[in-house]
Amino acid sequence: MPDRHDMFIGNQFVPSSSGTYFPVRNPATEEVIAEVAEGAAEDVDRAVAAAERGFTEWAHKSPYERGRVLSRMARALEADADAFAALETRNQGKPIRHAKGFDIPNAIETLDYYAGATTKLHGTTIDTGPAMHTFVRREPYGVVGQIIPWNYPLMMAAWKIAPALAAGNAVVIKPAPYTPLTLLKLAGLARDAGLPAGVLNVVTGFGPVVGRAITRHPGIAKIAFTGSTATGRDIVLNASETHKPVVLELGGKSANIFFDDVDLPNALKRAVLGVFHNAGQMCIAGSRLLLHEKIHDEFVQRMAAFAKTMRIGDPRDEKTQLGPVVAARQMERVLGFVSRAKAAGATVVTGGRRAENQNRGYFVEPTILTGVDHKSEIAQEEVFGPVVAAFKFRDEDEALALANDSKFGLAAGIHTNDLARAHRLAAGIKAGTIWVNTYAYLSPAVPYGGYRQSGYGRELGQEGIDNYTQLKAVFISPNRG
Ligand code: ADP
Repeated sequence: MPDRHDMFIGNQFVPSSSGTYFPVRNPATEEVIAEVAEGAAEDVDRAVAAAERGFTEWAHKSPYERGRVLSRMARALEADADAFAALETRNQGKPIRHAKGFDIPNAIETLDYYAGATTKLHGTTIDTGPAMHTFVRREPYGVVGQIIPWNYPLMMAAWKIAPALAAGNAVVIKPAPYTPLTLLKLAGLARDAGLPAGVLNVVTGFGPVVGRAITRHPGIAKIAFTGSTATGRDIVLNASETHKPVVLELGGKSANIFFDDVDLPNALKRAVLGVFHNAGQMCIAGSRLLLHEKIHDEFVQRMAAFAKTMRIGDPRDEKTQLGPVVAARQMERVLGFVSRAKAAGATVVTGGRRAENQNRGYFVEPTILTGVDHKSEIAQEEVFGPVVAAFKFRDEDEALALANDSKFGLAAGIHTNDLARAHRLAAGIKAGTIWVNTYAYLSPAVPYGGYRQSGYGRELGQEGIDNYTQLKAVFISPNRG
């Protein structure tokens, strides 16, 4: 029997108002591993009511006290890191070494960063002349709504929850229906760490029902969303009914650019990390590989040779390098992109199929394509799977033009030993994050977000907490009242 999980409202695990549950699978085995409460709009109402009560208590705590609760959450997560990693792997499919080595530590670091940030929120005083004393303070919004995806379930939860709570808000958050389990576990941990009732509420269920209800709810003051560009559009439209501000982290089609002066073995590692890590299910995936014409053929051939040796399989095995994608629907989507690319004339250098050696699970072979028209679908749309298209460029100008030939602008990688060139390209590429001679490096201290259709607003860093505050200007007349 799969485990049954209720949603989390007012520091209690409660069934949905309908009493129904939806199945959650392990993508490596296709087994149903849990049944999770299927939320409805009424559950969002309940969560918002609990959050309003929670907010009153939370916002009256001192910043130091809020920081201590976040710190305790970080320590509790650290103490239970292995169990969280195992659960993330079981539910999301990512290799255990990545869950242990990246996702969980990043979530802990984010909680710690914002635990420290609670006491560093500053307002300003503004000199408006002797006739008025003027200051501006940062206040929390109240109840904020957060909707997160399934690629880094716990880490995305931490990116959302930690800065919102640090600023004094209460949260109503919805995990993706494929991957609700680690967030539910985190909610129990937060309660045990002393988070007052109602400050964190997790409503599980489906986007068009629960997600939409959160987005439209008049009691929710702000929305933060990470997910696909199409869903982002729906969120903005729905949020506009009540004029809620929205922070969006959407898709990407990032260029990972390699010049002919790179050290090939090192460069290859970064290209592989950029697009095969997490089975390519990364917003920042370096899914357009731009290769200088002098190294293109050798690079592709070596990367294909490496891809063929990648250990695909049971994500619980410490040696596994590539796990399944999250769901059957995602696997079909990824393979659909590949087959349409082939039909449009692309060459599949390696991969391109379901990895059948497993007989079950949603495994996709690491896939490299060449001969792709840069205007075609596979070069312009986000695949969210272990699929990369390689392109040749002659010189820096062409690399820059190709890099910017995208509706997205989340990230880019530049690999070269020519520092001046790295600076020129870093300045010229229209993206929110640029990596030089590295890829996918993230820090909770550094703002993260997109240009163009990759979204707007920034998470992490000081901007991440500022996001969850609104400014209040206070004019005080020096005259007697
Ligand atoms: P995918 O389609 O691959 O699941 P999404 O970007 O749609 O990716 O999902 C990201 C998150 O957004 C999930 O938690 C999902 O349930 C939620 N979601 C999906 N559709 C909507 C919607 N119309 N309004 C609000 N949230 C949504």
